Amino acid sequence: MQTAADREAKLQRHRLRMTLLSVANTSLQSVIIGLYAWAGEVGWSVAWRFFLVGAGSSAMFALIIWRGLNLRLKDPGLLLPQIALSVLIQLLFLVLAPKLWVLFLVAVLVTYNFAMMSFSARQFTLAWLLVGAASALALFAARGRFGHFGTSGVSIAILWLFFFLCIRQLTAIGTQFSSLRTQLSEKNKQLSASLERIQELASHDDLTGALNRRSFMQLLADERARAQRAGQPFCIALLDIDHFKTVNDRFGHLIGDAVLKEFCAVAAASIRVTDRFARYGGEEFMLLLAPSTSSDVARVATERVRQALEAHDWDRIAPGLRVTLSAGVSQLAPDESVEQLVRRADEALYAAKDAGRNRTVVA
Ligand code: GH3
Ligand code: MG
Ligand code: MG
Repeated sequence: MQTAADREAKLQRHRLRMTLLSVANTSLQSVIIGLYAWAGEVGWSVAWRFFLVGAGSSAMFALIIWRGLNLRLKDPGLLLPQIALSVLIQLLFLVLAPKLWVLFLVAVLVTYNFAMMSFSARQFTLAWLLVGAASALALFAARGRFGHFGTSGVSIAILWLFFFLCIRQLTAIGTQFSSLRTQLSEKNKQLSASLERIQELASHDDLTGALNRRSFMQLLADERARAQRAGQPFCIALLDIDHFKTVNDRFGHLIGDAVLKEFCAVAAASIRVTDRFARYGGEEFMLLLAPSTSSDVARVATERVRQALEAHDWDRIAPGLRVTLSAGVSQLAPDESVEQLVRRADEALYAAKDAGRNRTVVA
């Protein structure tokens, strides 16, 4: 498991890497400007000044992150100040060396792309207007001095080299997005698996895996609504294991649990696919018998479950163990509530217990 501290350390390493990358990029841009100086397009001072200001400011950010001074800030990524300063420096050099305007404008665009990592829609609008205004000011300040750099093979090669490095930077940003997308889809998969598991836990009984009381009551409410619309009643059966307390007392609670599990497996195997089976609580279970089942058919279906459990080989769980059940069946009467229906099944169950257990009584 990754702790919060691990995650923070990893994030901090990532921030440092990104900022060092920016130091490297500005240094490379200084080299490009140096190449133009070597080709005689601009003075050498433009190159070394750009290196000092550009790479220097990025290095300052790297130092802040390396010393952990960013951690107390609201924006520990320092993305906003880094982008703002970088754009400002590029535009400043556009004014200082207007001949290289293409370089500086393209560099502003590349830098702007880093904002994709974290800017909100509102921040983007603000950044767009600010960068728009700043570039207008810079272009206006440099007006009349633009000129063109030469179209010699060397100058074109330098221009291409710069362009090539810019694409490399965009590729780095794209690669990060690609890995973010992969992480996101991985997280989504984990989330849906957890959600499925939560739904399973919320609707099923822990011990036996059968539907739990809550989901059974929901099922009953839905079934009642359907029955009233269609004018077709349905039946339920309340099953209760006979003398289960004695099973626990004689064989222990663990065997009692094993009996409950086995009980569910056997019962589930002896009902029709359209019937539903649930653990209603303790050693009590519920059957919802398929729509339009008459109480006679419901009695037969419940008897089949009762007989299957009576005939089951319980010796495998504990020698001498015998398990029987009593059941009460009720059919939904017109305008009857779910609570009334369950109460009548409960009364029928009590009648079955009174009559000597191990039998089914219809309300
Ligand atoms: P009757 O025939 O009248 O139904 O008698 P009974 O002993 O089955 O009924 P009673 O209500 O007296 O006892 C139910 C027992 O079921 C008591 C309780 O400890 C046990 N029980 C309920 N839930 C669990 C469970 O999850 N595991 C185990 N092992 N026992 C349980
Ligand atoms: Mg009971
Ligand atoms: Mg019982």
